Amino acid sequence: MDMKVKEAPVCPDCGEKMKKMDAQNSNFGDGLGWCVPFLYVCFNDECPPYVKGWQNLKDNYGKIASYRTICYPDNGNMDSMCVFTPDGCKGQIIEE
Ligand SMILES: [Zn+2]
Repeated sequence: MDMKVKEAPVCPDCGEKMKKMDAQNSNFGDGLGWCVPFLYVCFNDECPPYVKGWQNLKDNYGKIASYRTICYPDNGNMDSMCVFTPDGCKGQIIEE
C-alpha cells in the first residue's frame, strides 16, 4: 500500500496545515539528517506540544528548546523535532 503523502497534512495536535521543510541541508543531532528530501512541519506557534515544550524541556532538562510536530512524507508517520528558537527551521520552509 502506497502511504506516500501527496500534499501537506493537517497537524494532529492543532489542526493547522503543515508546511514543507527542506530537510536536505539540515544538520540535526547526529548529523546524519533525515534521510528524506523534505518533511512536513507544523509551524503554528500556538500548537499545544510546541507551547508546552518550552516549559517542559526547561523544567526537565534545563534547556531552552521546544518541539514541533513533523510528518514524514514517505509514510505519513508523525513525529516531533527539537527547535531552539521560535524561528528555528523557518528559513527552510518551501513555499508551494
Ligand atoms: Zn500543530
